[in-house]
Parts: sequence; C-alpha cells; structure tokens
Amino acid sequence: MYVVIIGGAESGVGAAILAQKQGHLAFVSDAAAIGEVYKNKLISHHISFEEHGHSWDKIQDAQLVIKSPGVPEKTPIIQQIRTAGIPLISEVEWAYRYAAKSTIVAITGSNGKSTTTALTAHLLQNEDTAMVGNIGISFAETVAISPKKRYVAEVSSFQLDDILFFKPKVSILLNITPDHLDRYDYQVSKYAKAKFNIILNQDNNDYFIYNVDSPILMENLPLYINRVSPVTITLQSTFASQNGACVQDNHLCFRWQEQFYQISIADVPLPGKHNQYNVMAALLAGLCVGEDWNSMLQKLPYFKSIPHRLEKVRVYKGITFINDSKATNIDSTWYALDSTNTPIIWIAGGIDKGNDYSLLKSVVHQKVKAIICMTKYPEKIEQAFHNLNIPIIVTDTAQKAVEKSLDFATEGDTVLLSPACASFDLFKNYEDRGDQFKKVVLSLGE
Ligand code: ADP
Repeated sequence: MYVVIIGGAESGVGAAILAQKQGHLAFVSDAAAIGEVYKNKLISHHISFEEHGHSWDKIQDAQLVIKSPGVPEKTPIIQQIRTAGIPLISEVEWAYRYAAKSTIVAITGSNGKSTTTALTAHLLQNEDTAMVGNIGISFAETVAISPKKRYVAEVSSFQLDDILFFKPKVSILLNITPDHLDRYDYQVSKYAKAKFNIILNQDNNDYFIYNVDSPILMENLPLYINRVSPVTITLQSTFASQNGACVQDNHLCFRWQEQFYQISIADVPLPGKHNQYNVMAALLAGLCVGEDWNSMLQKLPYFKSIPHRLEKVRVYKGITFINDSKATNIDSTWYALDSTNTPIIWIAGGIDKGNDYSLLKSVVHQKVKAIICMTKYPEKIEQAFHNLNIPIIVTDTAQKAVEKSLDFATEGDTVLLSPACASFDLFKNYEDRGDQFKKVVLSLGE
C-alpha cells in the first residue's frame, strides 16, 4: 500500500517507520522544514520525504493518508485529500492497527494528560509495558521498533479526531475545559466530541475512568456514553458509581469490585487537588488491568513529577520559586494558585487562547500580592485584574520577571510562574520558558 504521512515530526515520522516496517511504501510530506533529528531518522530508514510544501502529484495516489496531530483539519492539503476521497486517519489509529492485541490504557483530558500518563506508566512499569503518545516516543514508532503487550498512551483531542477502530481497554478522561478552540470552530461541543472519541469503540469489557466533578465533561457525557463500564473519580465524599474513587477524611478512597482501598492525602507524591484526580485515575487504571494494589502503592512514593508542572525550583532567601510553565490555560493556573498556601507573586501571560480571567479573580484576590506580566500582550490581564488594587508589572524577559518578583516577595512567599497562556510571543515553547525561568532563579546566588 502507498501511505502518505502529512507532518514530519514525532508522530508523523513514527507513522512512516511503522508503515515501512509493515511492508508499505511510505512518503512523508511537510509544509515546513523537517527537524534535523527527524530528517536523520527518515534517511536512516530510507523513507522518502519532502519539506517546505506539499506536492499533490506525490500525494494524490496515496491509498491511505496519516495525519500528524499538529496539522489542522482546515489546512488546504487536508481539505484537498478529503475532496479526493482518500482515507485519512490519525497516527494513533494507525499504530492501533498493529497493536490491537495489546492492552491499551489511553489517557486524555484538557489538563493532566502527561502527568497521569507518566504516573500510570510508573505504576504499571515492567518490561512489557511502554509509555507512548504525546509524551516521549510516538505510539507508532514504539509499535514498529519495540512492540509491547501493554501501552500507556497519552492521546490529545487532535489524535482522537481521526480514529476509526481505536479501542483502549481502559480510557481516562480527566476533565474538559475550554482549550484549543481555534481548532474546533470555537465550539466547546466539538472539542468535547473529540475527547469522547476515546470511548467510541469501547464495550462492556472495557473501562472508562472519568471525572464527575468536571462540568463540561458531565454535560456532554449523555451524548456519548455507551456500554463501557464506568469508573468514576471525584473529590466529593461519596462514590459516584460502583467502581471508583472519592475523598473521605483526608484519604483518597477506592472501591473496586467490592474491595475497598485507601491512601492518605499526605502520601500523595504530587501537590495540589488536581493531582489527587491524577493519582486516583492512575491507580484505578492499574486496578482495571489487574495490577496488584500493594505493588502500586510501593511504587507511588518514587514517582518523580515531570518538569514544568508545579516544579519546585528552589528556595531563595525564604522565597519559594515554582515553575508551572506548562500551565497554558486558565484551569491549570487555577489549580496552581489554589494549591499554593502562601502569598504569591504571580508571573503570568503570553499568547492568550481565549481566556476568561474572571474565573481566577477570586483566588487572585485572596492570594496574589503582585502580578508580573511576562508577555508582549499584557492588556487583557491588566484589564481583568486592575480593580483588585494589586501591582501589575509588565516585563518581556524571564530575567526581568524574576528581578521584578523580588521587589515584592518577602520571606515565606512564593514566586509562581503559571502563565495560563501559550509561550510563543517571547519563547520557543513552554519548555524554553520554564528553562529560562529556572536558569535565572538558579543564578540568584545564595
Ligand atoms: P497535559 O499533558 O494535559 O497538558 P500536564 O500533566 O502536562 O497536562 O499538566 C499541564 C498543566 O496542568 C500543569 O500546569 C499542571 O500542573 C496542570 N494539571 C495537571 N493535572 C491537572 C488536572 N487534573 N486538572 C487541572 N490541571 C492539571
């Protein structure tokens, strides 16, 4: 079969490698430059490719097109492929074709995907389990190079957009809050539909772990729920279904097939209420695939949180510096502010994806001493918070933002980088933003 892959980064290149491995003829086409690492991979696998534009004459004969998640549906080349009637699927669907016999735990949500995927993979870790998807090596490349009996996969809404048969044994939907709406005609309902695709093919032998405290998720649930076995998570004090988790007396409590388990919240290795959901989901996923509770409990304290998510950088002169650069929307920043129990100097801003800052007003009013806008576009934040009577300073580098934060912070305070925005106005990406912040903080001296 002649397979064309649109997009030459992690998932596109992985899809091409899998295609070739399965005996197909693969061709990768990218509208922009293909990164050096990926080019080298393609060359070493003898896969042909083009960059800086798509040639229709090389694409039109494809029997199958695989779209990498970074390519929006509205892109002219995708439209042309649709018009030509060529079958088009996502990389996750492609990988699934060759991994359908494996056990798949698939994780999605607006926030918490990477954390929960890394944690679940940590709890389920063994030589026949791999962590794949948006985090680390793509699903397709893993299936091609190092196939496993079990996969823990982080899947974004973009990867779920073009699935047909993808059928995880366990799916996790952590929450739905407005995000990426530019790719969904600014309609939350379309974004929610993509997220619910995670259960599209599941049946009553499969499990669906979802958060009953997430209003948009719950509003949309009746539209999509099917025969899948429900497993619920909530921070309320009662279980919302037969199998699930809730919070009672400062413990995360689990009910699974008439058995009860619990852990003290003090033993949760990650800060903030949001991480309680993540821990619940990960442990329940383990129970769903038959993992032993005690063995998971032994591993839990050794989980190392991933960088740029409420990452404690250091304490300098009694001031704690936290890097939460991955917080690129309002919900994640709300949890960061909420979980900080000291006065906060809040470093925020960047490229706004349609934020409603009024949702943060109350927590900012309670906790924030000063706002440092680190962005070229501070107007919306200034407007949203100017009547709270706290200083709002505008800067355009991490160096200046940290320096300014020290004008306001005193011993016992926290300087929190939790931007609620994308980073592209001043930085390459959220990692670059977090790394620059950390570098400045670590260079402050003793
Ligand atoms: P994703 O992969 O979905 O972007 P991450 O685990 O990378 O999620 O976390 C992104 C941001 O969201 C971080 O700021 C993190 O602290 C916050 N976060 C993590 N889990 C949750 C959750 N369950 N609900 C809300 N925010 C969360």
